[in-house]
Amino acid sequence: MKTKNLASILSVLLISLAFGHAAAQGFQHADSLRITYIANYGALLQAGDKRVLIDGLFRQGVEGYARVPKVLLRDLEKNRGPFAGADVLLVSHPHADHFDASSVAAHLRKNSKAVLLSSQQVVSATHKALDGDANDRLIEATPEWKHREKRTVAGIEIDILRIRHGYAHNYSLHNLGHIIHLGGKKILHIGDAEMISENFALFDLPAEKIDVALLPYWFLTSASGSKIVRELIQPKAIIAMHIEPAQVSSISAEIAESFPSAHVFTRPMEKLVF
Ligand SMILES: [Zn+2]
Repeated sequence: MKTKNLASILSVLLISLAFGHAAAQGFQHADSLRITYIANYGALLQAGDKRVLIDGLFRQGVEGYARVPKVLLRDLEKNRGPFAGADVLLVSHPHADHFDASSVAAHLRKNSKAVLLSSQQVVSATHKALDGDANDRLIEATPEWKHREKRTVAGIEIDILRIRHGYAHNYSLHNLGHIIHLGGKKILHIGDAEMISENFALFDLPAEKIDVALLPYWFLTSASGSKIVRELIQPKAIIAMHIEPAQVSSISAEIAESFPSAHVFTRPMEKLVF
């Protein structure tokens, strides 16, 4: 009898705790920042009625790295489902695990409010794939290496940072970093940035007080990358991405050791609220 009573008291307590938690979350959701993982280094960022899609529209991918699951890709390209209604499409660089011109073009055709803001290389490939459609919704910004441009698109302020891609054979590739201002927060995405201080120092990112940095995981597991994160980015929160599906557990363990508070995105549709 006694144990039964205790159990029922406990379950009432647990239920009220759960409801309390849900209520707090619901309240928080109004215009808090939500980040949903798509695949590889792709995510949907949303706050209030504003939505930004970054590096989430690609088909082929690169061997070893995560691809967009078929059903999600179909939804993305048809502008329906959980990723529908983006205001701005951002692309860090034209590699097949971040971008596919046909995929971006398909989305732009179906989502008449979406605007693509990206480098000359990405915009011209998309322009070709669009074959005359939606060309008024392509905006090009290609700052010089270590320089930035500020743009406001659909009422969303975005800083475009030209950061060099890793490895000399990729230096001519336009790789863009982005600071996206959404829900009163600043979110950083850096593309496949080379892990050298020179790539970051002039942007003075610590002064920006970045709220959430979306980072390729090797910035958290290597000495040179960690140094850049701790000294030249100093974000309040970190989400590790770009993780090879075959190595999720070993990489997650490494991240937990060097950056214990970092979140790790590995499952499409995973969501974090800030
Ligand atoms: Zn790349």
